[in-house]
Amino acid sequence: MFRLFYWFMDISLVIPLYNEEESLHPLVKWITEVMSKHNYAYEIIFVNDGSSDGSWDILKELKAKHGDLIKAISFRRNYGKAAALDQGFEVASGDVVITMDADLQDSPEEIDPLYKMITEEGYDLVSGWKKKRHDPITKTIPSKLFNAVARKVSHIKLHDFNCGLKAYKNDVVKDIHVYGDMHRWMPVLAKWQGYGKIGEKVVEHRAREFGVSKFGAKRLISGFLDLLSLFFVGKFNKKPMHFFGTLGIISIAMGVIALIYLSVMKIFFDMPRIQDRPLFFFGLLTLIIGTQLFLTGFISELINDSRVKENNYNVKEKLL
Ligand code: UDP
Ligand code: MG
Repeated sequence: MFRLFYWFMDISLVIPLYNEEESLHPLVKWITEVMSKHNYAYEIIFVNDGSSDGSWDILKELKAKHGDLIKAISFRRNYGKAAALDQGFEVASGDVVITMDADLQDSPEEIDPLYKMITEEGYDLVSGWKKKRHDPITKTIPSKLFNAVARKVSHIKLHDFNCGLKAYKNDVVKDIHVYGDMHRWMPVLAKWQGYGKIGEKVVEHRAREFGVSKFGAKRLISGFLDLLSLFFVGKFNKKPMHFFGTLGIISIAMGVIALIYLSVMKIFFDMPRIQDRPLFFFGLLTLIIGTQLFLTGFISELINDSRVKENNYNVKEKLL
């Protein structure tokens, strides 16, 4: 409430949006109504993820009306929800950072209990759980599958990894960088950074009132690919050479043995036309693939050393 010093901030709400023009006014109205019941110093950070509708104009209106309460950042193009969150996290100064969707599916009534779970119960991260979902069955069934796999891989006991409504200690969001569709796996990334106290809260979920869902059937494939790369990166992040190098050496060894055998047969036993034998091609192929695997491991090590943590999004405009 008493925002004398700008760094005194209890809650930063981070809201990514992509073509949500109808929802923005009602959303801010709803948030301010709910928050007026509490005494929090808070800010709402909107990240416009390259919307092609009038979302940005509406954000400018909201900024003009509410001043310091609202911060708005606009990407020049659509980078995806994770990039939008990442950008919002960079700006967020609140002790607790709460993310929510812009489409009115998440209720601001959850902000207060989420804040308390972080500050009073000491959680590093609390994920919402849309126990009773208002989404089509084409979404809910794949989602159940995802969550089951994610639980197995990550050993984090969450029911709903993908819930847009999540609360974090400020340190957590500053330590994690997400891109692509990685927003689904924030709890996993947090755990890897050493933030082990991860909780869950059943949250209210509502049907979408305006606009359409931005994630189609594609989410199925991309979600699983992300999980795969997550698993892979998690396992081999420290030492990619151990993985690629081992495979490469095995492959090269097979190639060398095959070719030495053929050479010996040719030179000492006069074997005719070795270039027609399947083993010859097998030897060449495994040699080439092995070298490539080996180089992949080597390059990964180099990249690992000089990894650039910052993502460069093309930010068009900032209203802070
Ligand atoms: N979103 C975004 N960039 C994108 C896709 C979505 O910022 O490329 C935002 C979207 O505007 C919404 C939130 O992410 O605020 C969740 O998207 P959506 O409601 O479409 O997902 P669903 O609820 O269907 O899982
Ligand atoms: Mg939604």
